[in-house]
Amino acid sequence: MTALTEQLLRLIPVNGPLRLDHYMAMALMHPQHGYYMKGSPIGAEGAFTTAPEISQMFGELLGAWLHQQWQSLGCPSPVDILELGPGRGTFMADVLRVTGLDPAFTRAANVRLVEPSPSLRAMQQDRLRPFAVPVTWHSSLASVPLEGPVLIFANEVFDALPVRHLKRGPKGWHERYIDVEEGRLVWRFAADVTPDVLIPAALRQSADGAIVEISPARAGLMAEICGHLQTRDGAALIIDYGYAQSQLGETLQALRRHQPVDPLQCPGEADLTAHVDFEALRAVVPSPLEAHGPVAQGDLLRTLGLAARVTRLQAEASAQQSAAIAQAAHRLADEQAMGQLFKALAICHEGRPPPPGFAP
Ligand code: SAH
Repeated sequence: MTALTEQLLRLIPVNGPLRLDHYMAMALMHPQHGYYMKGSPIGAEGAFTTAPEISQMFGELLGAWLHQQWQSLGCPSPVDILELGPGRGTFMADVLRVTGLDPAFTRAANVRLVEPSPSLRAMQQDRLRPFAVPVTWHSSLASVPLEGPVLIFANEVFDALPVRHLKRGPKGWHERYIDVEEGRLVWRFAADVTPDVLIPAALRQSADGAIVEISPARAGLMAEICGHLQTRDGAALIIDYGYAQSQLGETLQALRRHQPVDPLQCPGEADLTAHVDFEALRAVVPSPLEAHGPVAQGDLLRTLGLAARVTRLQAEASAQQSAAIAQAAHRLADEQAMGQLFKALAICHEGRPPPPGFAP
């Protein structure tokens, strides 16, 4: 039994059932026991691996994207290069290495990392120490000053933000909670009906038994990102796995050491994520900002020059390394692997040309 399971078995009978999003927030971000708050959650030792951990090509190609966006803003100096949820710092290290080819960019770059987890912050610090670029850590986007131009990046952050489940009954929508029964955690739908304002309009008239997954927490983070771009020049690029249009059904999943487990089995010791609804994110973007995409990760990486990058890296590699490079490119971009499921959404100021990879 995990430390969090023990706490929940004590607290729920006293305080009442816990709403799914509150459970998810605790399981991931509880200051002592949350999955992201301790140890090494990502990579070979963790529950899951991510695109920057699969290959340096991901950070290099998107580093070139960020560099191009900086040029299209007129090469401002300084410029905030802001990453949300940087994990082990691998992406930013790859970006700084590749953009290091342009000393003017390196001089302008002011890196800001939004990372609530102390253990991940420590890894990021180690990772970025070799680069001659100022790096500041923030525990939330709210503490980042609203000053000067900014390029914002987030990979696999929105999938980790809490979701809520609502199930359609004859009288309306019922919210999903976690309760305690016979000494263990169980799912329970509330008897009361929740007002349907939070549910995407197109899904409100669903048949009995339908489940909708929503995430006000994601919409909130998206609104904060847009808040920065409404007062500052810049652009944002958000990559995650999910669907382009709001749809019915639940996608919550728990992974422990790369294996799926029951989401109630070991809170704090498994990663909990859900597919991202990109339509819901786009809906938050206000004028004079413009959302581009989502486009498939595979298409984006190919447009940015994945094949040329593979050839370039293979030219200096052994036969064994060459095969690994080809395999990593396949994993990142193939439709059957991450290429289609993962999507990218860009946010820019209206009237600017669409960024590379997002032209209609
Ligand atoms: N981007 C990295 C890590 C993805 S894991 C990669 O691709 O490898 C999710 C990351 O988001 C972790 O760094 C986690 O601590 C962070 N995170 C979780 N909730 C967050 C929030 N509300 N704001 C910013 N980062 C958050």
